[in-house]
Amino acid sequence: MALEIYNTLSRKKEKFAPLKKGNVNIFVCGPTVYDFSHVGHAKTYVQFDVIVKYLRYLGYKGFYLQNITDIDDKIIKRANETGTDWKELSEKYKKEYFKDMENLGVNSVTNYASATNYIAEIVSQVKRLIEKGFAYKISDGYYFDLKKDEEYGKLARRTSIEGEDAVSRIDENEEKRNSGDFCLWKFKKTNEPSWKTEIGEGRPGWHIEDTAITEKEFGSQYDIHGGGLDLIFPHHEAEIAQMESISGKKPLVKFWMHTGFLNIGKEKMGKSKGNFSTIRDLLKNYSSEVLRYLFISTSYRKPLDFSNESLENASLSYSRLRNICENINDDKKLNKEFLKEFEEAMNDDFNCPMALQVLWKLVRDENADGKYNTIKKMDEVFGFNLFKKIEIKIPNEIKKLADEREKYRKEKNWKKSDEIREKIKKLGYEIIDGKEGWKIEKSN
Ligand code: AMP
Repeated sequence: MALEIYNTLSRKKEKFAPLKKGNVNIFVCGPTVYDFSHVGHAKTYVQFDVIVKYLRYLGYKGFYLQNITDIDDKIIKRANETGTDWKELSEKYKKEYFKDMENLGVNSVTNYASATNYIAEIVSQVKRLIEKGFAYKISDGYYFDLKKDEEYGKLARRTSIEGEDAVSRIDENEEKRNSGDFCLWKFKKTNEPSWKTEIGEGRPGWHIEDTAITEKEFGSQYDIHGGGLDLIFPHHEAEIAQMESISGKKPLVKFWMHTGFLNIGKEKMGKSKGNFSTIRDLLKNYSSEVLRYLFISTSYRKPLDFSNESLENASLSYSRLRNICENINDDKKLNKEFLKEFEEAMNDDFNCPMALQVLWKLVRDENADGKYNTIKKMDEVFGFNLFKKIEIKIPNEIKKLADEREKYRKEKNWKKSDEIREKIKKLGYEIIDGKEGWKIEKSN
């Protein structure tokens, strides 16, 4: 089976073919940089990292572009609240985001594009929308007139806001022609950053940032656009309206791909909800490979319930996988049958959980040839670093067991403490007692 991708636009899996043979232009919405990134972001960006790595594995030259929203209401609000300069704030969190991505092994992005470097392109797009009659001016800025676009709503299959949308970004003003009209250019307000331009002094609306960036880097049409589910409406819908109205070319994007949410207690993890764990905090206790294992165990389109238990399970499974791989030697062969099975899984809309099962099957197969090189090829996509020496982080569950054993030892309850030592051993770790105390190591 050749690669098929679920396209949000058609709500179907479709055979993948890029606009230009051999090349894939892919754009994924990056973060708004006003705070540290959380594990919800990590899910989306690791899953797209795997998707792009698989496209490259298939031989496509993949140009992966990601925008950084470095000017936005949320940034200005946070800067005012903390008494920081908006530029300093966004630069700080942009750097932190890059660090987080590097630490997660997300290294497939070809180019990060910051919105503030594209002001001329944004202004040019707004001007063209005005000239073509799609944009109008009111007291606080230029807006897109939804009534001028008969197809508005074709991606989300609706035209009004619902529960999980990225809502804050339509902008309200009583003078608007239609309630859903979204802002393209916001006129200067006191104490807000602004740029002096032909369409007045001000700053860009959120949706226009992305089409200005993609038009400059890819042209008016490209292959794949991704992001989390919350971005379908109004953000991605607005992008279609803007770019297709400007260029008259359809579709703006051939394949729309959306990731399911990482939830915590059934609610989407989000910065504004305050129910988040930052990537950097989690990486203190778990390796990036464990986090990748957790995300790769779930289909990118599905939600993922995030809990200590799910993390511990991923941690144990990853340790087991590494343990077995440590004893696999390079026989200079490649196992084509297993690779084919892996590709079949991935070709089915990047079915990572199924591809992971194929990896496990191969790892456990005592008679298979070419294990080392075949696993290595699969790992180019997953990024588990299975044959690389990495610092092993001891899972919390093991640490807790070790503490429990220590307690029994102090009570001289040798039976119980030995039982726990055995339990730890079964989970792939060993307690080494020494003069200086005890330490935990991974068993060989
Ligand atoms: P934001 O910084 O909120 O604009 O989000 C950046 C990207 O991360 C978008 O593609 C969001 O859809 C995605 N994202 C944010 N929160 C989550 C979450 N809890 N689960 C999955 N993706 C998320």
